Amino acid sequence: MPLPSSPRPAGLPDRIRHWIGGAHADSAGGAVFDVADPVSNAPYAVAAAGGPADVDRAVAAAKAAFTAWSGLGNRERANVLTRVADAVEAREDRLAELESFDSGLPIAQARGQARRAAENFRYFADVIVALGEESYRVGDQQINYVVRTPAGVAGLITPWNTPFMLESWKLAPALAAGCTLVLKPAEWTPLSAGLWPEILTEAGVPAGVVNIVHGIGEVAGQALVDHPDVPLLSFTGSTDTGRHIMRCSADGLKALSMELGGKSPVVVFADADLDAALDSVVFGVFSLNGERCTAGSRVLVERPVYEEFTRRLAERADKVRVGPPADPSTEVGALVHPEHYARVMDYVDIGRREARLVAGGERPGGLPAGNYLRPTVFADVPRDARIFQEEIFGPVVAAAPFDGEAEAVELANATRYGLAAYVWTSDLRRGHRIAAAVASGMVWINSHNVRDLRTPFGGVKDSGLGREGGAHSIDFFSESKIVHVMLGEARTPRFGA
Ligand code: NAD
Repeated sequence: MPLPSSPRPAGLPDRIRHWIGGAHADSAGGAVFDVADPVSNAPYAVAAAGGPADVDRAVAAAKAAFTAWSGLGNRERANVLTRVADAVEAREDRLAELESFDSGLPIAQARGQARRAAENFRYFADVIVALGEESYRVGDQQINYVVRTPAGVAGLITPWNTPFMLESWKLAPALAAGCTLVLKPAEWTPLSAGLWPEILTEAGVPAGVVNIVHGIGEVAGQALVDHPDVPLLSFTGSTDTGRHIMRCSADGLKALSMELGGKSPVVVFADADLDAALDSVVFGVFSLNGERCTAGSRVLVERPVYEEFTRRLAERADKVRVGPPADPSTEVGALVHPEHYARVMDYVDIGRREARLVAGGERPGGLPAGNYLRPTVFADVPRDARIFQEEIFGPVVAAAPFDGEAEAVELANATRYGLAAYVWTSDLRRGHRIAAAVASGMVWINSHNVRDLRTPFGGVKDSGLGREGGAHSIDFFSESKIVHVMLGEARTPRFGA
């Protein structure tokens, strides 16, 4: 039996509220905004639209909770984090259902993101108990040691592409490090964040440690950025917003972590395992609806295999199953919002003028409504084309040929972004050479994006600032204080003696 186009999860809330000081709250002025799902594009709920007064209350709650939370031992905080992981895991079905409904992500992939969210908490519980602090001995004369202290009330601002997972990615290390915080989730996808209050309460996170203020970026997000009692901001989102937040943070000299956009190259050499490379290219750019910061959205193929590889890529793209997000067999669901859909469709039109369309480029048959796009492949894309240069953040890939290693590197580096890069070759020495020469924060050789949580994550150039992941995240949410202790005689020049 065909699935209804937009099955509503049972028990869907019609009102999404802030969570401040351990209690649900409406906005001070009662303002709300509509929240729609990307299949019907009809509002199913309203969410509280936070403003400066709400952010102020949330920051005050986080400040009040700081002394007690930051004063806990690492093991005590780790125990709480482990219970959060358990509570997330116990809700895997519900989380996947809500996330998929609200964001349009295929349910099977939303399930994977829910598991990853639990893993983030379990992992940072381990990190914080295992992490030591540095000390430096200077002969018998001096010992210096570093004390890591929680940095204060953190502001967390997250995007809509994998909402709950990206929230967990920041919540877990901030809490592990001993910070209290205010989270501003993305306004297009606030639904799954509504599960945090029950998860955190069940896990025993004290009131005020985590506060959630929903709202429009330019209002609620901006108020958080501007708040004088928030000394650090961890932001994931677009490069333009990141740049704006950096400017606003200059006066307050705020610590910033910026995970921004990407236009990551996949470099396929003729000697690669082309079947494996093809699987990886297709998954790497079309999974999560192509709304993925590390998507391999530029496929550079060595000329002898370019025509064949591009043809096979187009054939596979044609066969990717586009369908309702709630259908477990769906591989590409609905793009998050009609505004974003229109933007992606604009790029498809631009691409038609700039290059050769070899797959997709239109709404799939049988899906007359909803933000659906057939996986789209453009071939022979020139390096100055907008679809080669700009992040599309949808199921659209640009392919181009290259001759030899030097041109491969030149093309790989020919954009303003530098988040991820992927190299396919059977010559490992060449793989290492390309990895060294490509300007990106992360490189995968003979793989798509598979990341151990201990490894640093982040980009260079317009893709960001700083690294998250493992000890890097803990460092960001901590201040390091160095204590110098003289063990011998202090030999002080005797001024004025
Ligand atoms: P966005 O920049 O529009 O919004 C991100 C968040 O910032 C939202 O919560 C939004 O409300 C808030 N915001 C907007 N204006 C603000 C302001 N003036 N002050 C404070 N907050 C403000 O990005 P998006 O469209 O939600 O997300 C897509 C982008 O995120 C893409 O560019 C993608 O590559 C990037 N992204 C990067 C990573 C990474 O780790 N590098 C991961 C996922 C997504």
